[in-house]
Amino acid sequence: MSATPEIVPPADAEKIEIHAGKLSVPDHPILPFIEGDGTGPDIWRATKRVLEGAVAKAYGGDRKLGWVEVYAGGKAFEKFGNWLPDETITAFREYLVGIKGPLTTPVGGGIRSLNVALRQILDLYVCLRPVRWFKGVPSPVREPQNVDMVIFRENTEDIYAGIEFERGSEANKKFLGLLKDAFPAEYKKIRFPDSAGIGIKPVSQEGTERLARAALRYAVENGRKSVTWVHKGNIMKFTEGAFRNWGYELAEREFSDSTYSWEQWEKTKAAKGEEAANAEQKSALAAGKVLVKDAIADITLQQVLTRPKEFDVVATMNLNGDYLSDALAAQVGGIGIAPGGNINYDSGHAIFEATHGTAPKYADLDKVNPGSLTLSGEMMLRYMGWTEAADLIIQGMDGAIGDKIVTYDFARLMEGAKEVPCSKFADAVIDHM
Ligand code: NAP
Repeated sequence: MSATPEIVPPADAEKIEIHAGKLSVPDHPILPFIEGDGTGPDIWRATKRVLEGAVAKAYGGDRKLGWVEVYAGGKAFEKFGNWLPDETITAFREYLVGIKGPLTTPVGGGIRSLNVALRQILDLYVCLRPVRWFKGVPSPVREPQNVDMVIFRENTEDIYAGIEFERGSEANKKFLGLLKDAFPAEYKKIRFPDSAGIGIKPVSQEGTERLARAALRYAVENGRKSVTWVHKGNIMKFTEGAFRNWGYELAEREFSDSTYSWEQWEKTKAAKGEEAANAEQKSALAAGKVLVKDAIADITLQQVLTRPKEFDVVATMNLNGDYLSDALAAQVGGIGIAPGGNINYDSGHAIFEATHGTAPKYADLDKVNPGSLTLSGEMMLRYMGWTEAADLIIQGMDGAIGDKIVTYDFARLMEGAKEVPCSKFADAVIDHM
């Protein structure tokens, strides 16, 4: 076992940098990757070939991906006795953009989840999850083609911040004692205080605004139709409700040239009547402005099923976003191919990742679907501004799945499918670019 990993990027590759909030990507950028555990090596090999194929096809020899392997998870533990070596964090910090396969979660010890650790250390405050259907993917709904959404899930706050007091613990007793002394009326609202576990839900203006700004900017830059704040503000006024209000205020303050909001509609209605408000909204949208609106979380979960066309970019807090991303991924049959990215748009740091786990029973069988990691790579290229290569990957996936050339997971749900191994699916994607 060597003591520390050596991270040596290709000699002729250069760092991605960020200047005044804009990424500056050289033609041969250094990109750290973690291949991942279990099925990770299989899906990483397939993904690497697809990404390189797309870049070669889009740019000839003018652009090249400068991979450098970094370590985390089981492979890191085996080689270096460390689940998450400092060198890995340093590499992601220094090179800004990278990609990772699924990691075994260490059992016991201090680290709850390596993914969460990486997100926290680099303050990757957006969990970005695009949800779209690929023609032919088996789906439980009738019109999966109507689902085309991009979810911005806040990644650092909310009930997920990790402030919890276990029932019966000393900390729990101490916390409840403080609450009882300082806020007796609130304390009385706890139905069974002696056996209650307690969780705290911080939602800040800064945390909300950086997420909201990222979602609004994405919608404007990518010509999307709307941004919806999804919240439960009718019940949790000072957290979820505040999230909604801060979102609207930010849209008005920083994006009034490019957006029109339901709040503006309400103001115009109050001043000039509903007809004037409708006319104002109609002309703003006709001029290409993005509509900014909001929806209560429970109703959203119904309407993404019944009226998916009304949702486009969705921005929401951590817990709502967790539920919504997986529910939507299932709607397009994409649980096995749903991609994800964790991004800090201010520092530029971003790690793109497969959203499924290591599926250890399939390790090294060249069997599973590489789609989740491949589409995460597609998101990475798009984030870098290499749109032409990203578009080719979508085209390749569309073509391969449309021709019913798929891995076992889709084949078992499709009639007339040709089942292929992981590596051959990558070939089919490359052939269809
Ligand atoms: P999992 O690895 O996601 O596997 C659950 C099931 O999902 C598999 O048995 C398989 O279903 C299907 N599946 C997963 N990946 C697939 C792929 N690429 N193609 C097709 N089907 C796929 O979840 P798990 O078994 O609960 O977790 C295993 C390990 O992964 C644990 O150590 C867990 O902590 C870790 N994990 C890591 C991450 C991450 O790094 N992001 C996320 C989740 C879990 P069938 O059996 O039906 O074929």
